[in-house]
Amino acid sequence: MASMKVRVYVTLSVEPANRHSEAMRSSASSRTDDKASVSVFTAKGDSRTLVAEFTVPKARQMDVVDRIVQEFEDFVPDAIDFSASFPRSEADERKAKRASERAKAKRAAAREARKDPAYRCFICGKRTKLVKTECCGRWICDDEHKYQLFSYARNSCHRNHRRFTLCAYHYDNGHKGDWKTCPKCRDDFKDELEMFVWYGTNEYNWEKLPDPPAYMPTTCAKCGKVIRLSDGGYSHGKDGYLCGSCMPNPFA
Ligand SMILES: [Zn+2]
Ligand SMILES: [Zn+2]
Ligand SMILES: [Zn+2]
Ligand SMILES: [Zn+2]
Repeated sequence: MASMKVRVYVTLSVEPANRHSEAMRSSASSRTDDKASVSVFTAKGDSRTLVAEFTVPKARQMDVVDRIVQEFEDFVPDAIDFSASFPRSEADERKAKRASERAKAKRAAAREARKDPAYRCFICGKRTKLVKTECCGRWICDDEHKYQLFSYARNSCHRNHRRFTLCAYHYDNGHKGDWKTCPKCRDDFKDELEMFVWYGTNEYNWEKLPDPPAYMPTTCAKCGKVIRLSDGGYSHGKDGYLCGSCMPNPFA
């Protein structure tokens, strides 16, 4: 059965003598699962406090602490104060140390990064929890987890740049050179110039397409209303684009 270490601190009204140490030892021995683990010593910097260290069967600390301390209260003479602590095992100690070193390194890296005036999401301006974009190597919110699948919400800076910019499109499709002058990007969107312009100039870019080409606004084939393609809420079929009011109701 697994054990855990416990330390019981007993403060005396007198300088400790042999009978106090003996009482500490026998109290510890009656509670331990391993008599060889028992050691009794004087607390550092406090000659009137004796410490008994020993192992007990692993349990919730709050469930066992009273019973352990009670034993000392009953048997150690001249005692005026009691407390207990549960020091971590060496393995736990090492694990905790490694975790804290990792956290420290992460904080240091974040601190270092924050000194960089460019450490700021180029979309929303936030200065915490950022990553660099793969496409253009700029700081941006590390927030893809905020996006809920199929919600179409635009609350994630990272996703907005990745999904709605030519910068990311150009990179994802392995095009060469600068996206702003890329003939392939331009060609891929030749039938959707409006989207090309939007992808190149919307607020999810840190650098915008200079001199975006003029395009004819998209209009509803039925009522003639202008449709903003980037806003969604339209249909596109053999008759062209239909606005939200004219498109057939899929639930009808
Ligand atoms: Zn952001
Ligand atoms: Zn980019
Ligand atoms: Zn391209
Ligand atoms: Zn319409």
